[in-house]
Amino acid sequence: MDLNVVRRELEDREEALSRFAARTSTSRGRRRPEAPSPIRTAYQRDRDRILHTKAFRRLKHKTQVFIAPQLDHFVTRLTHTLEVAQVARTVARALNLNEDLAEAAALGHDIGHGPFGHAGEAALAECLPEGFRHNYHSVRVLDVLENNGQGLNLTYEVLDAIERSSKVRGDIFADAWGVPGTLEGQVVKTSDAIAYVNHDILDAIRAGVITEGDLPVAARRILGSTHQERLDTLITDLVEASWEARGETPGDRPAPRIRFSDHVGDAANKLREFMFQRVYLYGDTRREAERGKQVVKFLFAYFVEHPSEASESFALPGDPPERRAADYVSGMTDRFALRVAAQLGCPEAQGWLPGEGQMR
Ligand code: MG
Repeated sequence: MDLNVVRRELEDREEALSRFAARTSTSRGRRRPEAPSPIRTAYQRDRDRILHTKAFRRLKHKTQVFIAPQLDHFVTRLTHTLEVAQVARTVARALNLNEDLAEAAALGHDIGHGPFGHAGEAALAECLPEGFRHNYHSVRVLDVLENNGQGLNLTYEVLDAIERSSKVRGDIFADAWGVPGTLEGQVVKTSDAIAYVNHDILDAIRAGVITEGDLPVAARRILGSTHQERLDTLITDLVEASWEARGETPGDRPAPRIRFSDHVGDAANKLREFMFQRVYLYGDTRREAERGKQVVKFLFAYFVEHPSEASESFALPGDPPERRAADYVSGMTDRFALRVAAQLGCPEAQGWLPGEGQMR
């Protein structure tokens, strides 16, 4: 039996997707050509490769907002990633786009985050002359570091969507890191914001940092007054405002952009700005983040001085010491970073191991 019939059938089904969807048949392919899987499309295969990496598993102990949370209901980078994938799949399917591509990119989009979330990222950015961005590092992890320094040889479209998934403060759709080349990539970029704004609100309430009543009135009025309502409004609005992506309008129009309606987009940006001011860069969260930054800087300095101690599974032996240190340290989970730093005498890491220094 020729099992390739399965993949060909799956690829045929992609022909029924929107004319704006990314198809395996028109993919720009992989850096190193390889024989296709008999039973999966290229994007399904990429999704599976990402899921099976060690870097993906480590997301379970990496910070989303609250550092090394001891309480089980706080979101970690892993549960955040799964929520992004879920939202992205729903939106991609509703818009008749390629759900497999969206899922693959969503699962990989945050894989380059270091310990302590954006605090770790900011610390490494200050350490390296070329800076450090988690989206670029996600691509480096998947394309270079994983698979014993060979990379996963993912398709161009998945890597592009991951590289351009990052957003700046102020506007979810600002083009700071470029617009993803596929609509599926744009879906992932927006789904990321939908997921984190909403689960971070729940976590901030859980941590006692804000109450539901603190949320901006305008945002509550437009998006809804509960977690479920807000998620539903944002996802439904994204689908409706991006309806042209289904490609049903006759004529030769260029591909539309994935977007919210103006008033919902505005409410989402307001809610996001509120989170920056009241949660991400505020009070205990900010103090913990500062401490996390010091730990990351300490570790970076140590491993620049002692490059041979950076595990070769996470850093390439031929690279300069700064690159090796950044690759190694950014691969660490919160708890691993704290343990190593505490052992090496980092003052900020003392007394911060599980169970201590936590917000409730
Ligand atoms: Mg994310």
